[in-house]
Amino acid sequence: MSFELGFKSHYEILGISNEKATTEEIKEKYKALVLEVHPDKNLEEAIPAPYKNTEITFQAVFQAYKVLRDPSQRSAYDQGLYDRRYRLPGVVNETVYIDELEKIEDGWVYPCRCGDEYFVPSDDLDLEIGLSLIVNCSNCSLLLRVIPA
Ligand SMILES: [Zn+2]
Repeated sequence: MSFELGFKSHYEILGISNEKATTEEIKEKYKALVLEVHPDKNLEEAIPAPYKNTEITFQAVFQAYKVLRDPSQRSAYDQGLYDRRYRLPGVVNETVYIDELEKIEDGWVYPCRCGDEYFVPSDDLDLEIGLSLIVNCSNCSLLLRVIPA
């Protein structure tokens, strides 16, 4: 999927891979993380190992949590995230149902008219149940809209 390089969602900042996580799960994650990143601690030690040399700071973690713990802010954020993720350059060339795609080991593929193919990773589809998904051809700028079963 074409996310801008370097962009991290609030979920990624909190280390949450499931964007449907409950508020309780988010809170648990935040509490664990904040113990590691809190500025009261020695700054050198304040950044958890996976985040060393990245821009993730206590401020970013707190900001992410502030939005995700509030259901109305979270739903606005989720919508923005969705728009940001799928506002791709190009036109939707075709709309297909997921069962028209060919299942491969880690996702689905569908032939593009340029001779290459569209690839839908399994994870992406799980995430967007109920919503159609727009994928980019691996080779050209055409887009495919996939409707989950
Ligand atoms: Zn193509």
